[in-house]
Order: sequence, then C-alpha cells, then structure tokens
Amino acid sequence: MMWEAQRSEVVETARRIHHAGFVAGTAGNVSQRFREPGGRELMAITPSGRCYDTMTADDIVVLDMQGQRIAGDLAPSIEAMMHLAIYRARRNVCAVVHTHAVHACLVAVTAREIPPLLDEQVTFLGGEIVVADYALPGSPELARNAVAALGSRNAALLASHGAVAAGRDLREAFDNCAILEKTAHVYALARIMGDVRALPPHAVEAGKTAFAARSGDAAPDAS
Ligand code: 13P
Ligand code: ZN
Repeated sequence: MMWEAQRSEVVETARRIHHAGFVAGTAGNVSQRFREPGGRELMAITPSGRCYDTMTADDIVVLDMQGQRIAGDLAPSIEAMMHLAIYRARRNVCAVVHTHAVHACLVAVTAREIPPLLDEQVTFLGGEIVVADYALPGSPELARNAVAALGSRNAALLASHGAVAAGRDLREAFDNCAILEKTAHVYALARIMGDVRALPPHAVEAGKTAFAARSGDAAPDAS
C-alpha cells in the first residue's frame, strides 16, 4: 500500500479522538500533510462517515493539495477542503484534527470567544480561542471561516458545530485538541461560578512569545 506509515498514523489519531470521547459515532476527521520523497505535497485524511473502530490504513484517502484523489477507494471527509485551506494558510502546520467535543460545542453554541485564561492555553494554542462564524458542514464558507478564526493560533471553535486544532504533527494536533477541550470546560464552569479572570497581560505576552518560538510561522497578533 502506498504511504502506509502516514495513513496508519492518521488512523491511530482518529482512534485516539474517538477513545478520548471527543467525537460520537462517525463525527470528526483527522489529516496530516506530508511530502513524497523529492515530490509533491499530499494530504492523508479520514474517509467520510466511517466507524473509527474498524478503520484501517487502507480506508485513509490521499489527496493532492488541489483536492484530487491520489489513493484510497472511499470518499474523503466532507471537511477535506477545510483541512487543505488550513495547510495552505499555515506553512508549519502538518496535522489538523476536527472534533465535536462536548465542552468545545458548549462554548461554540454560545459563540463566545474564550479570552486567554490559562498559561497552557496561550503557550500551546496561541492565546484567545475565536469562534468561526457559522457555515454548513463541508461548505467552502466553513473552510474560509475556520482559517480566519484560527489565524496564526492552533485552535478555534466552529459556531454550533465543534472544534478544530492544528499542530506540527499528529501528536501535537491531538494534544492541542485535548488542551482546547480542557480550556472550554474550564471557561464554561468558570462562567457558571461567575468570576472569570483573564491572565495578566505580561503572562499573555510571555505565552505568545513561547508559542511563536515553537510553532515557527505562527506570530500571533499583539492583541
Ligand atoms: P466526515 O465523516 O465526512 O469527516 O464528516 C464529519 C464531520 O464532523 C463533518 O463536520
Ligand atoms: Zn464536524
């Protein structure tokens, strides 16, 4: 099988989001970008509407950066265009994970931006969490809105839908999903408790500097 290692890694991360409870049923999708030896860039992505428990490397679809299918028999995720748009916008992002995790969805239905609350949120996700304007699943608008909400950060929420996280590799993108879900959980509970205090400005600045240094192309705005 062509690109077996890259396709197996996508399956492994897809199973992880399922086992972590970040998706129910066949929701969510996972991809990674890689380069053929001396050749073009490609994306390996989960198929549309398939059970994670029985998914194998063979089921993973390989597309070129224009979205043309290069390998795999199944239909690619309906969000393939969103994954491709993120890769085009972000040079150093090589993995994207989209989930429907509960607390991410909770904040996503309120459409409230999460301010920088926790050190790890800023250091690993890049700061505030912006909610992308609503667009239908699988639509070009959703791809555009997700890229805009992500900016140079590694996580965003999708209004009335879910979450998207990015990373330099699948491990990092999965970890960023977990940090995003924890951040959304803490924010939702903190609002119920009534007193949400953002990080002090010098901590936000220090966290964003650390984030930018690690993620290379990411230079979050000064705000
Ligand atoms: P796919 O099964 O096509 O990846 O769609 C799942 C999803 O979450 C759509 O937003
Ligand atoms: Zn979705």
